[in-house]
Amino acid sequence: MTVIANGFIINEFNEPTRCNIRLEEEKIVEIGSDVKPLPGEKVIDATDLIVTAGFIDVHVHLREPGFEQKETIASGTLAAAHGGFTTICAMPNTNPVPDSAANMQALNKRIKADAKIRVLPYGAITKQLKADATVEELVDFDEVGANGAFAFSDDGVGVQTAGTMYKAMAEAARLNKAIVAHCEDNSLILGGSMHDGRRSEQLGVKGIPSVCESVQIARDVLLAEATGAHYHVCHVSTVESVRVIRDAKAAGIHVTCEVCPHHLISDENDITGDTGNWKMNPPLRATRDRQALIAGLMDGTIDCISTDHAPHCEHEKCGKMADSAFGIVGSETAFAQLYTHFVKTKIFTLKQLLDWMSSDVARTFNLPYGKLEVGASADIVLIDLDKEKTITTDDFLSQGKNTPYTGQTCSGWPVHTIYAGQTVWMED
Ligand SMILES: [Zn+2]
Repeated sequence: MTVIANGFIINEFNEPTRCNIRLEEEKIVEIGSDVKPLPGEKVIDATDLIVTAGFIDVHVHLREPGFEQKETIASGTLAAAHGGFTTICAMPNTNPVPDSAANMQALNKRIKADAKIRVLPYGAITKQLKADATVEELVDFDEVGANGAFAFSDDGVGVQTAGTMYKAMAEAARLNKAIVAHCEDNSLILGGSMHDGRRSEQLGVKGIPSVCESVQIARDVLLAEATGAHYHVCHVSTVESVRVIRDAKAAGIHVTCEVCPHHLISDENDITGDTGNWKMNPPLRATRDRQALIAGLMDGTIDCISTDHAPHCEHEKCGKMADSAFGIVGSETAFAQLYTHFVKTKIFTLKQLLDWMSSDVARTFNLPYGKLEVGASADIVLIDLDKEKTITTDDFLSQGKNTPYTGQTCSGWPVHTIYAGQTVWMED
């Protein structure tokens, strides 16, 4: 048995309360200020640290199988643990794609062997993630669902036709699993590498208009209404997307969504130049989009935060935007960046931020994780809110070093991550 002693839990009123937690094997068995370590019991000293439920990230690219030069299940899960995550959901744009029973089983085997924390894999919506797939090219939802698909997603590409999405939603609804959608209408990408706006004009880079995302969300919320599916929108980035989702929720449609740290803290005006590390999909939008995302989180339109951790090799990101791959890494810096930008500045409370990264993610997907409570899996992160550190890729445990945020100083860093009662990462 182990006791995490002298740490602070943030209660529902956003107040730090001193609390000890006893773990037995993989579970939390006692929580309280009167829980005292017994003789011989292991003690983890959490003095001056925040003790909170391990974070959940429903949007991670682990790249394995097929792209192990970018990331592996081992490195990606260790990086996530470094960022305070104890549960992550792995996106299906791998090779092979998890689009059959055999591929799901092979993926589960790799996860079981190599993952440092809990990994819930997505199953694909279409075979081979074909954006322009016909109804005939959908996965066998029963087969993929029965082999451990957390939910269904074609992340990386949008499902282009309404008929295919309609059928996919009907199948997912029948299995009581979510459709998790990367929303992008291919006919509106227009060869762009960044947001179509003021900054793309200045830099002379082709732009992707906001409507490329929002038009597909508008279509899909109606399909979700028609099929009764749980429709979850990935990485919402525009003011119009937030509005469509807000209206859909008001109409009683089962739609939820996530936002990524980079879309909350940065917009097109922060892009320092035409360089690959600023290229991500969806792109950093205009200031009014960023403001709408912050407002959407505050009013509950946006349910939770995910990172879209998307590691790439250096040579894929070192050129200009047009020549680079989409995506930035995020697992290891998400909490500190958000804490620094929004909690220290009193825009969000600490409680709000912790919930958006744990219990609200769990609530969105009906997962039994993300809360510190007796009987729960002992998935816990200890955070030093006062610790200040400058972001450097030298610290990253991810193979991916592709971030535009190096050199930024943040405070609020995870220092010890416990998954199912075991330390999976701690600071030296
Ligand atoms: Zn995506």
